[in-house]
Amino acid sequence: MRVGGERVAEPNAIGRTLGLLGDEWSLQIVRYAVAGVRRFGGWKQHLGISDAVLAARLGALVDAGVLVRVPAVGGTHPEYELTKAGLGLWPVLLSIWSWELHHVPGQADLLPRMLHATCAAEFEPVLRCRGCAGAAPREEVELALGPSGHFERSVPVGSNRRRTTGGRRTTAGAGMFTETMTLIGSRWSSAILGAAVLGATRFSDFERMTGASPTVVAERLRAFVDLGVLERAGGEAVGESGARPASYLLSAKGRAFFPVVATALAWGERQFPSPDGPAVLAVHRPCGKEFVPQLGCSVCAAALASRAVVVSPPDVPPTSDDGASSSQDPGNGHREEHCDGEDHRVVIDAVDHIHGGLADGVSEADDRSDPQQRADHVEDEEGP
Ligand SMILES: [Zn+2]
Ligand SMILES: [Zn+2]
Repeated sequence: MRVGGERVAEPNAIGRTLGLLGDEWSLQIVRYAVAGVRRFGGWKQHLGISDAVLAARLGALVDAGVLVRVPAVGGTHPEYELTKAGLGLWPVLLSIWSWELHHVPGQADLLPRMLHATCAAEFEPVLRCRGCAGAAPREEVELALGPSGHFERSVPVGSNRRRTTGGRRTTAGAGMFTETMTLIGSRWSSAILGAAVLGATRFSDFERMTGASPTVVAERLRAFVDLGVLERAGGEAVGESGARPASYLLSAKGRAFFPVVATALAWGERQFPSPDGPAVLAVHRPCGKEFVPQLGCSVCAAALASRAVVVSPPDVPPTSDDGASSSQDPGNGHREEHCDGEDHRVVIDAVDHIHGGLADGVSEADDRSDPQQRADHVEDEEGP
């Protein structure tokens, strides 16, 4: 973060969320935790991650309230459980998965498919408004910076961040979120992305909003155009401030990333509320209500609940006999339920009886069933 005048700007929800989620290891750890991994050795096995890196990430996730250490069941090593807030990250992961699957070349061959147990179909998560259940593409959501929304307060926080360059690593489980990390895994990339989502189109907009140097802006814009997230129209050249400055508009691929931004932002505002208010104010244009994101099934239109989403093939394959310390905990995994139609019924039954899960994780994981009531009380329910 930068020093402005005499004081350092306090990081806002965006900065703290990016500090956590702009790191692929952290995302991967949460992903496997959602799939049932609880032990140090389990993550090591799936991710091929070093002890030091894994320990640092687990510590950061505990500090951020995403994981909690719990006494081991029948073992000596502590285990880790997702907190309610940690479970609430699941919509972000689902949105990233869907975007990588549908918009990033080559990922369709690498990523598992997801089935919605409720309708037994392969689906896409569709971002919509919890207040009216209407679709919420970027152009239907009015966005403005809130009281804590200054870009200098949105700089990713944390020392764990590791810039990825888009190259695939060879370790197991890595490379799942390759282009996502290119967009949100470094300070200036996430700033440029944020500016684009907020409506910046001209080179000078990006410069002014992000505070980045012209060299950095030019380099990032070029990278985003190469990635197909921005489309350049008109103008002479990147950075040129001639009579016909170029416009940089979010492409279809760029607009399709909005669910990731919206779900991550909603999670961050809930988890890291600033005393002076939210970083971003969002209104769903068609209904005029505060925009609270929810994910629906593209096939049956039901609101998605985390336990109704079935990974195929299983996200966490059965563990080989590599010792007790790295064995999976069978009690918390969903994978056992994902094998055949009979087991899908188990999942469906479970979904009928929970209010938690994905949809509630997006906005607010409480037990009330009236969506509007929840939406109206989002900011009151989880104080600092
Ligand atoms: Zn609405
Ligand atoms: Zn469905």
